[in-house]
Amino acid sequence: MADTNPIIFRTYKTYGGYYVYDRHTNSVITLSREEFQELQAVEKGELPTEKSGVIARYQEQGMFVPNVVKEIYHPQTDIMEHNAKRRLQQLILQVTQQCNLRCEYCAFSGIYKENRVHSANWMSFETAKRAIDFYLEHSIDTPSAFIGFYGGEPLLEFDLIKKCVNYAKKTIEGKKIYFNLTTNGTLLEDERVKFLAENNISIAISLDGSKKEHDICRRFPDGTGSFDIIIKNLQNMSQNYPEYTKNSVRFFTTVNPYMDLGCVMEYFRVNDIIDERAIRYNTMVFKDLKKELNFQKSYFQIQKFEYIKAFFSLVGKLDKKHVNPLVHTFIENAKILKQALHKRIELDPVIHPGGPCMPGIIRLFVRYDGALFPCERVNENQSFYQIGSIEDGFRLDKMRDILNIGKITETECKTCWNLQRCSMCSNEIEFHGKEKPGREEKIKLCAEKKRATEVELYEQSVLKEFGYIVETEEMRK
Ligand code: SF4
Ligand code: SF4
Repeated sequence: MADTNPIIFRTYKTYGGYYVYDRHTNSVITLSREEFQELQAVEKGELPTEKSGVIARYQEQGMFVPNVVKEIYHPQTDIMEHNAKRRLQQLILQVTQQCNLRCEYCAFSGIYKENRVHSANWMSFETAKRAIDFYLEHSIDTPSAFIGFYGGEPLLEFDLIKKCVNYAKKTIEGKKIYFNLTTNGTLLEDERVKFLAENNISIAISLDGSKKEHDICRRFPDGTGSFDIIIKNLQNMSQNYPEYTKNSVRFFTTVNPYMDLGCVMEYFRVNDIIDERAIRYNTMVFKDLKKELNFQKSYFQIQKFEYIKAFFSLVGKLDKKHVNPLVHTFIENAKILKQALHKRIELDPVIHPGGPCMPGIIRLFVRYDGALFPCERVNENQSFYQIGSIEDGFRLDKMRDILNIGKITETECKTCWNLQRCSMCSNEIEFHGKEKPGREEKIKLCAEKKRATEVELYEQSVLKEFGYIVETEEMRK
């Protein structure tokens, strides 16, 4: 009969050491070769747990505690109703579903199964006003207001944006309002920039590197690239509004298989218009693609080389300025992981894997017609994600399901070694035509999540071996 309260841990080794990750305390212990071999024998079922001297020794220090997890349930579920009534954080308005570009990898280009495509639908001012009122009524306890404009290309509805900004400023009292907008940068002409700068609206512009790399994917419907017009707009903007451009403009680069990663990184290193610190990278979404798309071999080689440089920078052998911004996130993640492992977090009997945020409360996305969604990244065609409407309010039952996505694999999560380190949001799971994310699809993703944690633990241990000091009780010598 299977052990109902197993001791859950994961052994791993690097070229320089032997380790075990203890799930109960979320900590890593450095082992001797003999200790490692003994724990591996326990893992394989060759040695009963109670016969392991290593386990007994560490149990005296509060580790290797038999499984305490009784239920997979998100701790924020019980405060969700209260927060939905009074604590909404950010409102994002889909002012249009149309765009003036037709980018190759766009989420709305038709290359994804089940996703919506560009359309002529746009939000009326009446709906926008009601959405702002709804947000106001449901954010009584939130000290600041955050309102974002999203598309398609939101600047196609510039007049609507102007009206919304003016309406919000008139209606929202006693709070500082922060506006933001995500744009492809082609419509940033003088009159628009003047309004954006005067109202201090932060903008995120999509830019994929040099002209050659950018124009491969980011094109107008007639095939013309959009790079030249964006750079012209940027030059004008930084000439006329230097402070605004410096402080309120960010860039997003979508790393995709069509581009040469080396050229993209080189472009951002040498160009003189864009401040490296203002660039954020994300990777094209590969989930739900209609046909398979893969990165070239050179992508992984360049990425590895940059990772090695980031690694050297972390152990103090290379100045961070030589590390490409693309992998700066690696440095940040290594620091976060170091802190996370530093903190000993003991498991609660009722717990949920990490990943989901309170749907609609952290980012409330309002579709052009007033339908509510947890954020702008989910597929609007999936009814699972429609969490209400500005007319009828929130559907708390649906919000609870999205937040408690771990329930689908409750049995597996309860005994999974990755429970304290896992991060999975329902939007990462494929639906395969179903109404809800399926168990089978989620389990497939679990393998990837466990692999990602293994890599993180491995990297952290190697960094420690090379002198990246982690002074914790848990990472003992
Ligand atoms: S600019 Fe954005 S919304 Fe428009 S086609 Fe390109 S990726 Fe899609
Ligand atoms: S990897 Fe899968 S089974 Fe493990 S904690 Fe995460 S969601 Fe649960």
